[in-house]
Amino acid sequence: MNTTMIAMAIAALLALGLVINVAVISLLSGSFHFLFARPRIEFLKSEFGDHGFAFSFTWNSSREPAKFDKVKVRLFNPFGSPTQVEVSKEFSGASSDFARDVYMGSGMKKLLEANGLGNATIEVEVSSTKDNIVQMFDFKATKFLEKLNEARETVKEFEGSLPAPEGKPLYQTVTRSFIADPLPESAKTIKLASNPEFAGEFSSGGGGGETQENFAVSKVWIEPGCIVCNACEAIYPEVFEVTEDTCLIRPEAPLDNGLLIQEAAEACPVEVIKFNQVG
Ligand code: SF4
Repeated sequence: MNTTMIAMAIAALLALGLVINVAVISLLSGSFHFLFARPRIEFLKSEFGDHGFAFSFTWNSSREPAKFDKVKVRLFNPFGSPTQVEVSKEFSGASSDFARDVYMGSGMKKLLEANGLGNATIEVEVSSTKDNIVQMFDFKATKFLEKLNEARETVKEFEGSLPAPEGKPLYQTVTRSFIADPLPESAKTIKLASNPEFAGEFSSGGGGGETQENFAVSKVWIEPGCIVCNACEAIYPEVFEVTEDTCLIRPEAPLDNGLLIQEAAEACPVEVIKFNQVG
């Protein structure tokens, strides 16, 4: 009895320890993300002077995929004048770390030249209009102006320091070229007439010759030695498939047009196409 109780107590302690471990790990990972993976905005030097707002924006795009394309700068100045100014502009969207120099117009100048900014705050919103995601950054107005004035790096300079974006994957297309060996000596003459419909027109020197009857084959195969010249596939692609280094017979190849198979065999410069005629 006592042994069972002790075993149960140990099991309960172990389970409790496991729960505590899991809780601590998730807490730590959450804190880590909060501290180090939060979106960041840095101020850059705008080429539009006091009419522009240049900034870089970095975030964990794999964790939060979005295309950010809008920036809003909002002044809350309850004890000064004007008490509130808001300017926003859309820009060409970006799906990973980016920098933009956005022309904000005269509203930005008005915001920057507001009076009594001692207790004012400035809110910067970077948002994705399509994905409905907003990232907000709050600054004391004086700090905001200080950071703007201290900004030395332009957007172009910042972009030069970003890692190059991954290029699109390149798919290589196979180009087949070769210089064929001289054709083997053969007494064979290539037959021009193959289409039974016109065979009579061309055979025996043209016009009025005998038409060769079509036939079926029971088997067609390629012997070793193919030089991948493509001739057979050009003649009868339903049967022959020329690959990188040889020629194959397609699995469902029709075998009822023996004349065309014969033509391909006769066109093969190394005579590796073989077939058995039915009957
Ligand atoms: S014609 Fe002959 S050598 Fe040319 S690809 Fe076909 S099987 Fe190969």
